[in-house]
Parts: sequence; structure tokens; C-alpha cells
Amino acid sequence: MIKTGYISKTITDLKPSGIRRFFDLAANMEGVVSLGVGEPDFVTSWSIREAAIASLEEGRTSYTANAGLLELREEISRYMDKEFRVPYHPENQIIVTVGASQALDIALRAIVNPGEEVLVVEPCFVSYAPLVSMAGGVPKTIHTLKENDFKLMPEELEAAITAQTKAIMICSPNNPTGTQLGKEELIHIAEVIKKHDLLVIADEIYAELAYDEEFTSIAAIDGMIDRTILINGFSKGFAMTGWRLGFVCAPKEISEAMLKIHQYTMMCASTIAQYAALEALKNGMPDVEEMRRSYLRRRNYIVKSFNEIGLECHNPGGAFYAFPSIAKTGLTSQQFAEQLLLEERVAVVPGDVFGDSGEGHIRCSYASSLEQLQEAIKRIERFLIKKK
Ligand code: PMP
Repeated sequence: MIKTGYISKTITDLKPSGIRRFFDLAANMEGVVSLGVGEPDFVTSWSIREAAIASLEEGRTSYTANAGLLELREEISRYMDKEFRVPYHPENQIIVTVGASQALDIALRAIVNPGEEVLVVEPCFVSYAPLVSMAGGVPKTIHTLKENDFKLMPEELEAAITAQTKAIMICSPNNPTGTQLGKEELIHIAEVIKKHDLLVIADEIYAELAYDEEFTSIAAIDGMIDRTILINGFSKGFAMTGWRLGFVCAPKEISEAMLKIHQYTMMCASTIAQYAALEALKNGMPDVEEMRRSYLRRRNYIVKSFNEIGLECHNPGGAFYAFPSIAKTGLTSQQFAEQLLLEERVAVVPGDVFGDSGEGHIRCSYASSLEQLQEAIKRIERFLIKKK
């Protein structure tokens, strides 16, 4: 036992991620169908893997520039402009990071002063509130509702703003709800953000996985590019989670601040992964589109099936998560997920780990084969009949 006081108070106060507990339970069981993991079921395209192998064969094993290979930043700049109509300068507005995760961290640390509030729109990715706390800020929750398809309402945003509010974190398409904010909705949200002079940390990691409506970046809305820190990466759209590569685009002054943190803490992202990402942007788009279509077919299947077996599920416009309501079972999301795992060997994530407004729901990743999804639905239906 070590002396009390060795661990920092900020870290002592953080709760461990609620997702891991279920993975650990499931890992020790046989025959589990997992809808738990939030990552693509595709292996990274072969041409991307080959580019990484080639970079090693050519002996490119040194550090890159702190902000990342200039060639890659130039490619990111072209990609962002072409795909999302957001112009960023490769020299001083783009930093290549260790996943979107590191981008979120340096974005918050670059802007938050001790005690300033950052609005976190729940249900959301489990890292947001802990990252705000670790940056010395105060995470302040806005709850979104099932009745609004988990969309952020401008009035609710306005009501949450105080004199201490510095920024808001927005994720569209969202993890865990799959909800995508449309252009009109973003315009209304942007009005409030501009009126109160806030910054936005826009997590657009699922931008390539939009199914019903063309994806709009909040940075593309009039007057927003100068107050947006835009985060994206290769993990989801390009099926490259293990490569740990993302990027962040921001106004020059914020980029310079983030680069200070990046150079002292990370130096640069993995060189091999950067060469792989270069190939992904140059030639990987047809594969991204093929994967998107495959997720879309699975989305259609799983949402229809949940509604058919009596679990009300809104139609998620993007990402690869369905977020059905389990309210009618009378179980909490923790009870539902645990009993479903132990009795029927299906792993899902209880909605409450994504914030209080996720209670009454479960997150089901449909980045699994159609056969696995069919098997999961069969087992969940049997489970529901038992619980009636
Ligand atoms: N943001 C969201 C909303 C995510 O779902 C994830 C991954 N689950 C990340 C960021 C982190 O992505 P990366 O692998 O690029 O660090």
C-alpha cells in the first residue's frame, strides 16, 4: 500500500471508464456475440498497409516535424477543403496527432484556464468530461433527449451558458447515439455560440460515416471557422484504429498553442502511421465509400430489427451505433447489459456510462457481420420474452 497523497487529487476523483468492465467480463466468456466495441470490423485497406511497409523498407524511421509530415498536412488540407469545404493552411493550422484522442486533449489544454466551464453534451464519448477535468476545467453537462432524437436544442445550449463558459464540445455523428446534426440545426446552434462568444471543439471523427444526409462540418457554417477547433482522424472512416492517427485543425493562434503541448508531450505522431495515412488520403476514398455502404446496410437491418422486437430505436444518421431504449423492461441499463451478457452472451454497453441521459438505453455497435447481428437480435428477442 502506498502513502495516501501520492496520486493527484484530480486523478483520484476520476471514475474509471464504465465500458472496460463489460469488455473484461465478456473476455472471459465463450460464445459471446459482441456489439460492444466501438471500432470498425474491417482490416485497414491493403494499399495503406503496404505504404506503411514500404516506408519501413525505405528506412523512414526518424521523427517527423512536430506538427506532422508537411506532405501529410498538405493532403489533409486538400481533403478537408474538398470533402467538407473548410480551408485550413497546412503550415500553421493543422497538427497530426496520436488519434483524435490526443487532439481532444491538446485542444482542451490549450484553451481552458482553471475553473472555466466546458459544456459537454450528453450522452457522449466517455473521455470528454475527464479530459475537461484533467485540463483544469469544469465539465458542465447538457442533456439531450430521446424525444429530440438526442439532438442539441439551441435553447438548452443557451440556458447552460454562464459567465465562466469557455467552450462547448460537439460530436456529430455522435457516439453513442449515432445522431447527426443537419446543416439547419448547426446554423441555429452556431447562432448561440457566436452570440455568447464561445469556442467549439467539434469532434467529427465519424464524418465519413453519414448515411441519410450529407455531413456538414460546424466549421463550414458562416462565422464559425475562427472559433472552431476541428478534430478528425483515420480511426473510423479509414478503419485505422490501431494506427493511432488523427489530426486537429484550428485558427493559427490556437494551433500554435496546441503545438506547444504536442511538442513537449508527444514530439510527433508515429512516422510509419503518417506514411500510411498519406496513402489513405491519396487513394483510400473508394474503400471508405464501400465501408460506408456496408455499415448503412447493417444500420438499416439493426434499427428495423430492434423496433420489430419491441425495443424502440431512433434512426441514427451516422457512425456505427444504435441506441435503443430498454425502458419498457424496467431494468436499468447496467442490469440489462449484465443480465444479457450472462444469460444470452451478447455484449452491449449500458447507456449510463455515456452520462445520465444515456440511462434507459444500450449502445449497440453494428460494426459486426450481418450474421453476428442476426444472432444478437435472436438472443436479445429471447431475453426480452424471458423478462416480460
Ligand atoms: N471521439 C469519439 C466520438 C470516438 O468515438 C472515439 C473512439 N471511440 C474517439 C474520439 C477516439 O478516436 P481515436 O481512435 O482517433 O483516438
